Amino acid sequence: MKNNLVLYLFFVLFSGQLIAAEKFADSHIHYNWDHQEETSIEEVVEILKQHNVGLTIVAGTPSELALELREKGGDWVIPFFSPYIHALGKRDWYLDKKVPEKAEQGLKKGLYYGIGEVHFMNGFQPKTDNPIFLQLLSLARQYKVPMLIHIDSSNEITFQRLCSANPDIKMIFAHAGGILGPEHIEKILNHCANVWIDFAARDPWRYDGISNEDYTLLPEWKKLVLNYPDRFITGTDPVWQVTRWSTWASGDDGWKHYQELYDYHWTWLNDMPAAVRKKIAWQNTQDLLNKK
Ligand SMILES: [Zn+2]
Repeated sequence: MKNNLVLYLFFVLFSGQLIAAEKFADSHIHYNWDHQEETSIEEVVEILKQHNVGLTIVAGTPSELALELREKGGDWVIPFFSPYIHALGKRDWYLDKKVPEKAEQGLKKGLYYGIGEVHFMNGFQPKTDNPIFLQLLSLARQYKVPMLIHIDSSNEITFQRLCSANPDIKMIFAHAGGILGPEHIEKILNHCANVWIDFAARDPWRYDGISNEDYTLLPEWKKLVLNYPDRFITGTDPVWQVTRWSTWASGDDGWKHYQELYDYHWTWLNDMPAAVRKKIAWQNTQDLLNKK
């Protein structure tokens, strides 16, 4: 046990050194209304800078919080338009005509660089043929911006239909490692060249599902990543409330867990060949956003 602890500490220190040397594109973060009472926007900028985050994709609830983060942080903060335009927007966005209106206003002004995150949960409304969602899709096409989509369905068909019907829209498949295993994700990757896969929130403290006890990727996931090194990205997604439904009334302290989330992702990244690690940790997100 003692030996394990020493090894662990050594590993943390060692990986810490590697971390400091490499820039990270934290490709899936949120700054929401219920984060605010726990962590200020200035503190979030500070946390990201301390961790050498050189690029980050952020969605806010409400959407404007992502714009505030860019304003405070700088042009390395890439705001996506969240269809959750008010505190409880996740519940009714798909019925709200103001959602596509606000999306268009923000995209027209060049404030947003993508649309999402949009959630589709198995057995719940909406479905991917929802009229508001279809309007968001056509805005993504018109303004040539990617969409961040989380679909929890029992097979790959829903997402595959969506990405093959819209080959001109870049899509991020959020939170891979849930119901769909590597064999499903491989089908999506094969069918749709316009899709990137993200492993955000798949740490052992929340959704889990992709890694071994030592935080390296499970062999079948690792194999898939190595076969498609240009198509994976990751992010910390510091939303802690997913595990705390009983304390819904209090603020979300997810940003206080940033270090452990960050260390988790760097542990599996450090288990990859350097060239692959650099792609996932940095380059693929650049490519996805068309940056140099
Ligand atoms: Zn998310």
